Amino acid sequence: MKIMPNRLDRGFYMYQEEFEAKALEVLRSGWYVLGREVEAFEEEFAAYTGAKYCVGLASGLDALWLAFRVLGIGAGDEVIVQANTYIASVMGITINGATPVFVEPDEYFNMDADKIEEKITERTKAILVVHLYGQASNMAPIMEICRKHKLRLVEDCAQSHGACFDGKMTGTFGDIGCFSFYPSKNLGGFGDGGAIVTEDERIAADMKMYRNYGSERRYYNKVVGANSRLDEMQAGLLRVRLSHMKELTEERRSLAGNYTEGIHNPKLLLPKVREHGDSVWHQYVIRCEERQKLIDYLDGQEIGTIIHYPIPPHLSEAYSSLGYGRGSFPITEHYADTVLSIPMYNGMTKEEQERVIEALNRF
Ligand SMILES: *Cc1c(COP(=O)(O)O)cnc(C)c1O
Repeated sequence: MKIMPNRLDRGFYMYQEEFEAKALEVLRSGWYVLGREVEAFEEEFAAYTGAKYCVGLASGLDALWLAFRVLGIGAGDEVIVQANTYIASVMGITINGATPVFVEPDEYFNMDADKIEEKITERTKAILVVHLYGQASNMAPIMEICRKHKLRLVEDCAQSHGACFDGKMTGTFGDIGCFSFYPSKNLGGFGDGGAIVTEDERIAADMKMYRNYGSERRYYNKVVGANSRLDEMQAGLLRVRLSHMKELTEERRSLAGNYTEGIHNPKLLLPKVREHGDSVWHQYVIRCEERQKLIDYLDGQEIGTIIHYPIPPHLSEAYSSLGYGRGSFPITEHYADTVLSIPMYNGMTKEEQERVIEALNRF
């Protein structure tokens, strides 16, 4: 049997009865968008992160672009973001007409805090920090830079549900924390979904207005908003998964621990976890200079892998107008050429993991 890089069905069968009961409950309720399930989820997810407010949205990308919209960041403004991120982070900035300014990553795949200040200009309005692969970014120096230069801070937590820096949950450091509940995320739904968390009542209220065509009162539209409502089915199913997040995260930590202990092949570089931070292991990302050989070899052993991500945003066709080329961000490009995500998912069996570890050690 082929071992896939991810198995969403396993995550379903772990709590099948609860998911099915909730789905029926929502179907029979006669209320399908912005109702009791969404309200309850918002309350529970805010409590889970330790934030004051949560607003459910239709996707992680919406959370990102609406965050900058609500903060009033747009044309003529610059937002600092790490160069080695998923392209949605960058789109969240550019949809508003703002300009992304890229910073190289550190050895933990997150924004290198030592390289931020050299990028700040009088146009810089915000930093977008991405807790990539589930690991918390180096928040202490980043918070200090934001204070010193009076910058807004937005967090892309699409991969970091539950990850902490100094015991504080990612998403609660900045003005707005942005989450995705796309099925493959650590807290995943059964379709698209997203949310923001914030301490600021005004931001939460604005976000609720923007997600519903810019209206606070029905048919009275204050701004040009979006249709970015979380639906009752996703919210209900997410509540089921959220109630098990502690054990789901522990399982990922234990799987990651097995990999770190079990893999000893000098050709493979294993991921490291920073001091003060932790990881919820959205991905277990190794690096290999002979990556294509490794992929082909693992494929021959019926083990699937994925590259997160083969083309960094600055080299993507979508952003050719920014004028970057190969060599613009060498560390990011080197990561893009060498990273490989090995199978990691809730419900992975001991036998499956042992097969992956053995294969990697034989390579
Ligand atoms: C998945 C993801 C997003 C986008 O979330 P969607 O719900 O797919 O729109 C944004 N940023 C990062 C880092 C992601 O992994």
